[in-house]
Amino acid sequence: MSADDSLGRIDAWREEMVDALVRMLRIPALGPMNAGTGEGARADMVQTLLQGFDSVQRFDADDEHPRPNIIARKGEGREGTVWIVSHLDTVPPGELASWDTPPWEPHVSDGKVFGLGAEDNGQAVIASIYAARSVELPHSPRRGIGLAIVSDEETLSIKGIQHLIDLGQFSDDDIFLVPDWGLPDGSLIEVAEKHLVWLSLTVHGKQVHASKPGDGLNAYRVGARFLVDLLERLGLQYGDEDAMFTPSTSTFEPTRRDATVDNINTIPSRDRFFMDIRLLPRYDPEEMIGFVKMVADEHQASSGARIDVEVVQLTVSGEPSDVDAEGFKALADAIREVHGVEPKAVGIGGGTCANFFRLQGWNAYVWQSSEGKVHCPNEYCTIDNISDDAKTFALTFHRLCRD
Ligand SMILES: [Zn+2]
Repeated sequence: MSADDSLGRIDAWREEMVDALVRMLRIPALGPMNAGTGEGARADMVQTLLQGFDSVQRFDADDEHPRPNIIARKGEGREGTVWIVSHLDTVPPGELASWDTPPWEPHVSDGKVFGLGAEDNGQAVIASIYAARSVELPHSPRRGIGLAIVSDEETLSIKGIQHLIDLGQFSDDDIFLVPDWGLPDGSLIEVAEKHLVWLSLTVHGKQVHASKPGDGLNAYRVGARFLVDLLERLGLQYGDEDAMFTPSTSTFEPTRRDATVDNINTIPSRDRFFMDIRLLPRYDPEEMIGFVKMVADEHQASSGARIDVEVVQLTVSGEPSDVDAEGFKALADAIREVHGVEPKAVGIGGGTCANFFRLQGWNAYVWQSSEGKVHCPNEYCTIDNISDDAKTFALTFHRLCRD
């Protein structure tokens, strides 16, 4: 079979893909952390779409409600498997009044499918299934095709992709495509993410009447000095630029600041603020946290106030994925052919499923056509994007599995 046969099949399945997506979106799929009952019912429905695979298995993780993870395989490759990873769960709908139509009553209009989870990540679930179905592999293919359709992406991923990694479902030869971020024209492939660090910084001083500040120790004053100095020195110490990323530098942002005192005439004894830090992967986040503690120690010594530095969250990012590897080139070729754009490799500040693979040292590429309405009221995906993404994945499979 030729690549054109696959593209023809995907065109013929256009209505069927839309119908499948609508049926899937009618079934809520919220994890327990989002006050839902899990993704079980939606997974059962999605499994009925997995026709023509050599094996379809479930690896449900234990939780308050079962957290389903589906693995569907086609062909046993001599050089590993090309995986597409998509997720079943959605975020909560938010304010219902902001939705023009109910979030779990999907509808089709104007070439778009509206509904909660239509683009995040329903488009990818459907496009990857029909892409895999459209490709027939020879008896002993170069690479096999694998779909991992997981739970728990919108919360921790521990019951989802991490569960499958822990079970040893993947190997060093494998290539991973994660359709969970992109631009409308499909021109960006995300190959790297920054480390994410959230810090809590608390200054402990001494409370007194504001008319006699010398008798106390103004935690706010110490905190303000400390913050200004810290921001300046972080910028100098970790000032490298990497043009692949937007923005191109690490970012160090003070965000939340707790109230000090409720009245104006008291010297505050406590000042607590938080920072959101996105660090380029070339730096070691533990070393950076050590640097913050060192600056805090200096201000502690000079002011006499105690300064506590706590890590609220630390997500280490894996090494950027290889843009010279065969997986990247095959995906880029398919994008050129289907979308008529020149794809560009980029890094972003946020976190996706791809990072779990990168932390294992594997190449993972985040790509889809995205209208950018994810986590918004009246979320939708376009029918053209479902079809074009399916074609892009099918051509990628042809290049990596059959050739
Ligand atoms: Zn998503």
